[in-house]
Amino acid sequence: MHDVVISGGGPTGLMLASELRLHGVDVVVLEREAQPNPAVRSLGLHARSVEVLALRGLLDRFLAHGQRYPGAGRGLAGLEGATVELDSDHDYVLGIPQPTTDRLLAERAAELGAQLRRGAALEAFQQDADGVLVLLAGGDRLRARWLVGCDGGRSTVRRLAGIGFPGEPASTEWLLGEIELDGSVAPEEVARIASEVRVLHRGFGIGPAGDGLHRAVVPAASVAEDRTVPPTLEEFRTQLRAYSGTDFGVRATRSLTRFTDATRLAERYRAGRVLLAGDAAHVHPPLGGQGLNLGLQDAFALGWRLAAEVAGWAPPGLLDGYEAERRPVAEQVLTLTRAQSELLSPEPGPQAVRHLLGELLQLEPVARLLAGRITGLGIRDEPAEGDDDPFDLVGRRMRDLPLGDGRRLSDLTHAGRGLLLDGTGTLPLEGWPDRADRVALAPDRAALPAPALLLRPDGRVAWAGDDGEGLERALERWFGEPQPASDHLSGAVG
Ligand SMILES: Cc1cc2nc3c(=O)[nH]c(=O)nc-3n(C[C@H](O)[C@H](O)[C@H](O)COP(=O)(O)OP(=O)(O)OC[C@H]3O[C@@H](n4cnc5c(N)ncnc54)[C@H](O)[C@@H]3O)c2cc1C
Repeated sequence: MHDVVISGGGPTGLMLASELRLHGVDVVVLEREAQPNPAVRSLGLHARSVEVLALRGLLDRFLAHGQRYPGAGRGLAGLEGATVELDSDHDYVLGIPQPTTDRLLAERAAELGAQLRRGAALEAFQQDADGVLVLLAGGDRLRARWLVGCDGGRSTVRRLAGIGFPGEPASTEWLLGEIELDGSVAPEEVARIASEVRVLHRGFGIGPAGDGLHRAVVPAASVAEDRTVPPTLEEFRTQLRAYSGTDFGVRATRSLTRFTDATRLAERYRAGRVLLAGDAAHVHPPLGGQGLNLGLQDAFALGWRLAAEVAGWAPPGLLDGYEAERRPVAEQVLTLTRAQSELLSPEPGPQAVRHLLGELLQLEPVARLLAGRITGLGIRDEPAEGDDDPFDLVGRRMRDLPLGDGRRLSDLTHAGRGLLLDGTGTLPLEGWPDRADRVALAPDRAALPAPALLLRPDGRVAWAGDDGEGLERALERWFGEPQPASDHLSGAVG
């Protein structure tokens, strides 16, 4: 019996596999496709995703393949707001094509010992009190204690788990291609036509994509009945001509895919031993470049909670806290994309709202609120009632900090364990040696925003203060019952 089977080897499933492997969880990722998806869907990562990579020591390998765009990606449907500086070392969009992101995440999952089975499609499952029996196309069976559906917007797991997916169906479909042009239309002419068409049709676009290719997006003639069938080159050409009067001399494609403006959110993220993450839990049009970021951060929030459940120390409610934390974040993203869809409408009403919002966005607090949502830095896992929170930090992500001893916070988070940063030098952490580490810091040198901080494995603040009792309550709430004294092996890395 495996600990966890993940259905879907996209970015969410691969990130989750790595997070689980950090805790020694036996995990298998099933991926239906035999080969990685070549389609460049996501083009970039927002600041919180970049921070997440830094927390796990992965950022250098992503930076080596990406480009930093400081302050980018903060607008709303093309409306730019006042310039705001974010409280992060990574105040930029990291431009990196999705196939590269997927590859780097797959490499990392493999390094950590996750099994990725390509060409393996989950077809059915049955769950009982102890686990889930997973049936693959072709007849193979696997048994696991938990199943996570990271199998995209048309998730088989979600459907078979009977989890509703309410929202709005697709009203518009777009075709997206990475295409090769024959050179019959000069580059300046391609750019001129594109900007002319975009005056009326903001959903249209064509521009260079590197490697001598162009990336083009064009509305489809209608919403396809069977969205599993990829568009044909002929269909793509026809739509290019319909919108711009030319097919730009497209002669071949590296990838051709369709997407829609369907907007839906799973009713629940859990049904017994089955969980959902990423596009399997939420879909929306790609306005603002949010989906992959949301999925990565779902995986980051879920991994340690599920690992705790597998290890047997999860306190009550820890796993369900995943849905409580992440579903409202997805709801906010859906609100953002719904609003952007409206703002793109040429109708007078939405145009009036657009005008007004453009003015409001010049106000620094408005631009800051929006930037916090778009980048994911503003997300807060609401503190529970009764949480002591004199520093107003609980539930917020802790930014990277210099620790005053040559190290930074992000040097201590690679293993995904809890972390007590103790600037008082007096706080004990004996009972949780297998779950959290204590680092004693010199308060005059470390840039701590409180005398001591307890961080969850996902980098969020579980507690901030200086009293041992408050700390112990937070430890029990997030890391479960302490081990008996005789079982303590270690507990300090400082
Ligand atoms: C045009 C476009 C542009 C985008 N731009 C951005 C952007 O700039 N920024 C951003 O953050 N996001 C963007 N997105 C969204 C992003 O691509 C998705 O949100 C992201 O890929 C979701 O990752 P996922 O792992 O949850 O799902 P997916 O990437 O869909 O992966 C799911 C995987 O599950 C597999 N699978 C499906 N069914 C089964 C099964 N039964 N058994 C086994 N495997 C199965 C699939 O083959 C697939 O590999 C964009 C999307 C589009 C369409």
